[in-house]
This record gives sequence, C-alpha cells and structure tokens, in this order.
Amino acid sequence: QTDIQSVLKNLGIADINPAYSTGSTWGAKGSSGTLDSYSPADGRKIAAVQLAGHEDYETVIARGQTAFAFWRGIPAPKRGDIVRQLGDALRDHKQDLGTLVSYEMGKSLQEGFGEVQEMIDICDFAVGLSRQLYGLTMHSERPHHRMYEQWHPLGIVGIISAFNFPVAVWSWNAALALVCGNVCVWKPSSKTALCAIACQQILAAVLKKNEMPEGISSLLISEELIGNMINNDKRIPLVSFTGSTRVGRIVSAAVASRFGKSILELGGNNAIIVSKDADLDMSIIGAVFGAVGTAGQRCTSTRRLIIHEDIYEDFKNKLVKAYGQLRIGDPLDQNNHVGPLIDQHAVEMYTKAIEKGKAQGARYVVEGGVLTGDAYTSGCYVKPCIAEVENHFQIVQEETFAPILYLIKYKTLEEAIALQNDVPQGLSSAIMTLNLREAELFLSAAGSDCGIANVNIGTSGAEIGGAFGGEKETGGGRESGSDAWKGYMRRQTNTINYADTLPLAQGIKFDL
Ligand code: NAD
Repeated sequence: QTDIQSVLKNLGIADINPAYSTGSTWGAKGSSGTLDSYSPADGRKIAAVQLAGHEDYETVIARGQTAFAFWRGIPAPKRGDIVRQLGDALRDHKQDLGTLVSYEMGKSLQEGFGEVQEMIDICDFAVGLSRQLYGLTMHSERPHHRMYEQWHPLGIVGIISAFNFPVAVWSWNAALALVCGNVCVWKPSSKTALCAIACQQILAAVLKKNEMPEGISSLLISEELIGNMINNDKRIPLVSFTGSTRVGRIVSAAVASRFGKSILELGGNNAIIVSKDADLDMSIIGAVFGAVGTAGQRCTSTRRLIIHEDIYEDFKNKLVKAYGQLRIGDPLDQNNHVGPLIDQHAVEMYTKAIEKGKAQGARYVVEGGVLTGDAYTSGCYVKPCIAEVENHFQIVQEETFAPILYLIKYKTLEEAIALQNDVPQGLSSAIMTLNLREAELFLSAAGSDCGIANVNIGTSGAEIGGAFGGEKETGGGRESGSDAWKGYMRRQTNTINYADTLPLAQGIKFDL
C-alpha cells in the first residue's frame, strides 16, 4: 500500500490547495469553486483543490507580462542553466512524482517513472538548445549589405494539457518555451490537478533559488473556464493545446480568429501494419503493449492492426493467447500489466464503443467488460478487448480512449497503406516487416500520412529527440525535439546597409 500522503509531503504539496500559482505565490482570490481529485486506482479522494476564477486569471496574466519583460533579457544559455536545475530537481523527485502520476492518473508505476524520465530528458535537450537557437545568414543582392534572421521570444505561452500525460506534456512545452525566452501559463487537466501542482512546486523552488521574479511559470487550476479565457486572450500569442480533436477544434478556431499561434496535439487513430514478412514474436509484443499500455489511453496507443491475410489467423490466435495472460489491477503493483481508465465517464465511453461496434458489425474475439470485485472498487477497471472489423465502420474511424483493438485483413501493401491512411487522424503509424522494399514504400511519400512512421517498432513510446505530432485531425502541431522550438519563437529578418548609398532591392531606381 503506497502512503500517498507521504508522497504529497515529500513533494511539498500536502497543504497546498490553490487555484493559481505564479511561482512561490499560491492563492485563490477569485476562486470559482473546488474540485476533488480521486484516484482511479482505488477510488479514494486524494485532496481537494480550488478552481481559478477571473480575478486569479488576471493576476496570473499581469505577473506573466511583467516577468516576460525581465526573462527575455536573460541570456538564453543562462535560461538554459535554470532549466538544467529543473532537470536536476526532477531527478531528485522522480520516485515521488512518478508515484503520484501513477496514483492520480492510473498508469502503471513503470510508466509513471518513464514519464518523469521524459521530463528530465527534455530538460537536458533544452539546455543544449539554449546555445543553439540558430538563425540563418543570407547573401544580400545589394552591395555592402548584410542579411540575417533572428529568433525572438513570443511572450506568454499558454499550455493547456490532457490528463493522460499529466506531467510530461507540460515539460515538453515549458522547457522549450523557457529557454526560448517565453514565460508560461499552464492550465492542466482538472483530472490530474495534483500532478500539476507538484510540477509547479518543483519549478517554483528552482526559480526562487535563482532569485527569479514571480510570473515566469504560472499555474491555473480549472476545467473549461480558464481554457476559454486563454483561447480568447490577445495577451497570449501562443497556445499549445494537447487534448481531444473535439476541444482542439474550439481552441484552434478561437486562437486563429485573433491571429494567435497555436500548437495542436490532438487525437490519434494509430495502426500497425503486420506484414507476412514480419518477425511475429516482436510484432505481438509491439501490438499488445501499444494497445493495452496506459490502458489504451495514449494518443499514440495502437487502435488498429492491419494484418496480411496469409498470417491473419495465426497472428489473431497469438494475440488472443497473449491477452489471456494480461494481469489487470492496481497500477502501483508492478506485477500488473493494465491499470484503470481515468474515471467512470471513460468507462462509459468504452462500454458504448463496444455496443456501437457490435451494432456496426464488429465481431469480438476477446470480449470486453467492466471488472468488479474487491480489487476493482473504483469501478474504472475494464478488460482489454479485440474485435474483427472493417476499416470503414464508424466506430473504427473514431478514437475511443480505451483498450479496444481492431483487426483488419489486407492482401497487398498498397491496400494496407490505403487502409492505414483512411481515417481522419494522422498521428502515429508503424509497419512490422523484414522486407526492405515494404519498409521503404511505407516511409515514402506514397506511404504513411502520419507525423510519426516507424519500422519494427510499435506506434507508442516516442523519444524526445524527434519532433512529435501529427497531421489531419491530429492538428499539425510539433513539440519536443528537432526544430520544434521554432514554434515557440518569432522569426525576424534583418537587413543592414553599411554602404554610403541607398541601393533599392530589385534594382529599382528612385532619385530625388
Ligand atoms: P480533452 O480535450 O477533454 O481536454 C484537454 C484539455 O482541454 C483539458 O485541460 C481540459 O480541461 C481543456 N479544455 C476543455 N474545454 C476547453 C475549452 N473550451 N478551451 C480550452 N481548453 C479546454 O482531452 P483529455 O480527455 O484530457 O485527453 C485525451 C485526448 O488528448 C485524446 O484525444 C488524446 O489523443 C489527446 N492527446 C493528444 C496528444 C498528442 O500529443 N497528440 C497527447 C496526449 C493526449
């Protein structure tokens, strides 16, 4: 039995139930109510926190604006050093923060620790980046002229995050935004408020130690209210939103209508193509982990398996056997493979999806169902299930955030790629094959249309070094590695004339 009160104490948040924080200042001036955080692991209430209101919001934005004027003046490598200290603090708190992630969100303890490791990794990446915010130089067509480009910070970056990666998504955004010279305002999912409070506390301590002002990193606990305020606030030039396509559509339209920038990381409907030339043992592990890891609540979870007809029956039987070995239960018990869904609403969506699927023609080869009994008192534990379907079924076209895996048969690779692409979402994809021609076709312009395309790796579990995100209804945003940092800055082109005349571009003559 994990002593969660000790975990909260170790994280320094046992007595904190704020609506907002601007760093070391925690408060609730215009609180709009309270919110109880329950663990889906055992259904127990962990703590109550206050919800931010208008006055809290205005306090946070005003401090953010003042802090930006200061923070943008700190040299980028010095900002990087503060992010390095954040990475070190996360190393110190990995055990407690990972445990809280597991208990409040319901993912396995190993995945909770993995999420904190991802935060540490992105901090390391951002430290290096703080000395590499490179712009290009260009040759001017005019004599004695120089052209170059610089990258400047934007201002306040609004971060709105989903429940399923309650700490890592914030760090992907915050670590990059901060080294780029921005300040951050975070509205986490209200389902994982304590994880957010813990992260804020860790960063606030680092900022305080460095005698930094309030407002460099702020937190607002809220459901939709503050989300909508961020969407519509001109003082927030960039909104980085991670969540469902349904809410992403609202955020995207509101931010675009005020000509703000947005980074959208929305839903996925990810498939693995299993070729007849695949290593089947490896493919089974990739498929099962992808489908049931985090109880199917990753944006990159494997939702569809597109299997070659020659191996279809064999692969299906292996999958059914593997599902028979899954242990479902307390995520903090490392013997279990699958933890709970986030809440009863998610369970309802799972049950409805199974019913809808059956009505549309899905044939279940591993039946689903809600688990009951002493080990499952929260009512959030469900059985991972598998159904044979056709790709065009309405339910297959949608993202159900639960461990439901769909099997689809194919004859030719071209057909498999067409099936894989024929969904509204475009996040992650994979092919399992030892055939070079197949692998290269899958990765070519005529192949996967997703932001992530893997060979002999499943769809989930991206590394921070690559740019993360997807196409179509996944929103088109990119976060984390590669040059994703450019999304957090504005580009400025500079032309400098050091001649004693003023030649115009394109040879235009203008004599007075
Ligand atoms: P959600 O869309 O219900 O909520 C996401 C966030 O939006 C929450 O913080 C919520 O409070 C907030 N919100 C709600 N209404 C809002 C509004 N009108 N304006 C602004 N913010 C508002 O998503 P969820 O259930 O927390 O997370 C699951 C979804 O997130 C899945 O679809 C999953 O695929 C997606 N996701 C995507 C990625 C990615 O990187 N592509 C990563 C994680 C999760």
